[in-house]
Amino acid sequence: MFSTMQDVPLTVARILEHGSTVHARSTVTTWDVTGPVVRTYAEVGARAAQLAHALRDELGVTGDDRVATLMWNNDFHLEAYLAVPSMGAVLHTLNLRLPSQQLSFIVNHAADRVVIVNGSVLPLLAAVLPDLAPTLKHVVVAGPGDRSLLAGFAGGVHDYDELIADRPTDYPWQRDIDERQAAVLCYTSGTTGDPKGVLYSHRSIYLHCMQVNTGDNFAFTPRDTALPVVPMFHVNAWGIPHAAFMSGANLLMPDRFLQPKPMAEMITAVRPTVSAAVPTIWSGLLDELDAGDYDTSSLRMVVIGGSACPPSLMKAYDERHGIRVLHAWGMTETSPLGCFAQPPGGLTPEEEWPYRITQGLFPASVEARLIGPGGERMPHDGAAAGELEVRGPWIAGAYYGGAGQDPVRPDDKFSEDGWLRTGDVGTITADGYLTLTDRAKDVIKSGGEWISSVELENALMGHPQVAEAAVVAVPDEKWGERPLATVVLRPGATAGLRELRAFLAERIASWQLPERWAIVESVPKTSVGKFDKKVIRASYAADELDVATLGKE
Ligand code: AMP
Repeated sequence: MFSTMQDVPLTVARILEHGSTVHARSTVTTWDVTGPVVRTYAEVGARAAQLAHALRDELGVTGDDRVATLMWNNDFHLEAYLAVPSMGAVLHTLNLRLPSQQLSFIVNHAADRVVIVNGSVLPLLAAVLPDLAPTLKHVVVAGPGDRSLLAGFAGGVHDYDELIADRPTDYPWQRDIDERQAAVLCYTSGTTGDPKGVLYSHRSIYLHCMQVNTGDNFAFTPRDTALPVVPMFHVNAWGIPHAAFMSGANLLMPDRFLQPKPMAEMITAVRPTVSAAVPTIWSGLLDELDAGDYDTSSLRMVVIGGSACPPSLMKAYDERHGIRVLHAWGMTETSPLGCFAQPPGGLTPEEEWPYRITQGLFPASVEARLIGPGGERMPHDGAAAGELEVRGPWIAGAYYGGAGQDPVRPDDKFSEDGWLRTGDVGTITADGYLTLTDRAKDVIKSGGEWISSVELENALMGHPQVAEAAVVAVPDEKWGERPLATVVLRPGATAGLRELRAFLAERIASWQLPERWAIVESVPKTSVGKFDKKVIRASYAADELDVATLGKE
């Protein structure tokens, strides 16, 4: 029999209404050139309503039209985050670090009707305008910028504040739409092939927000201030903006000031309690905090995910700044929260480390399994490795096929029974902790054995004079593949490659030690700040690296 419970749709509109009324006093602070700009959630709700009126009445947005954003993390972007899905349209967050070819591909693939753009990124939009399809009808510019750059655009160009001025501050939000309808479209930042679109539903966003707000995750309350350094175009800033509006946590938005110095200054001035970003951001900030006189005592937790966080980085924050780092794993296709590395109870800080350096524990809503090379299920015993597959209410079941097209389900991304193939390889313990050893495509296959590039990188980054280290597979006549270590030294470092190799030899089995080494100025990064191993492999193949060969002493 069916239950006797109400069937109320879970929608972004409900999050907007709740946040702007019950949490009317909570604030979003945007770090700007002119100083911090503060708005209450009541104001954000009112301005979101004005934006929705403008989009519908002036720009003709109806049904599931796509409204794209090309924006930093700021109050304007938050208004669009709430208004667009709540009026029933689809918010499409554009990654402003994508190469222009990919940017124009996804705007055209999604057939975006409107793009809302920060004035400070107008040059990026101007560069792709000639390649955009006529489905794009309007550009809305938020904040100061050189509008003459849009002179060649045939559609309408509007100023955000002028467009929304004098419109009603309430709106008949779509609270009762089917919760399975699309709310937000986000493309993967895939480094190979065209990006693929993931369409989050109202339901998936709502449930994911509730997960973000649980005690073992971000656990937001109105006493918190969250600093999402992770961009709002990267998997909804890991769900933080919507979750903050749901829980009443205040937001500190860094806009384009993502360099270590302004970040340290905004943390000192606005006193966020929680922050989140990829490891490269936190390793840059660490040097600034070590050198300067900043107050980071407000931070109760910093969440690091998006790529493997070197344990040495977590320990440095812990020991030198008293900041608790939590490691998390996820991907665009998983909204992104998959797992969160909170340790079990009753342990000493020392005993917690083996749990904290894993990728984390899966919540009830995310089921996980490991699949071996022959398609067999691998045990969750902390030893047997396999490709991770996941399933759950905020996990993608297909990709967006393009305007008017059916969704697509490539076989290499989805199993026959509908689980997402993550492309990540790792182990899971009996008590549910995931440890990733690699991306399937980054594993080094040496003479029939697998070497984890991540393990080598983590060990190398534990050397005090190493700023960054990326390890990739390169072809080897004898073994098929062998590791190549590329290393960025800290300023003033005196360590040579032999010393680094000896350091690694104390921590890693000798057959896994790289023979090929290169000191590099920086590790190439993807559009979301991860190591771009494809570029390193290509530089090696093109003989562009100064590679030294080191054998046993
Ligand atoms: P994206 O869709 O750009 O967020 O990329 C998702 C991929 O990032 C995952 O499939 C993993 O390969 C990687 N990733 C995310 N979090 C972690 C983590 N904590 N440790 C290692 N890799 C991670």
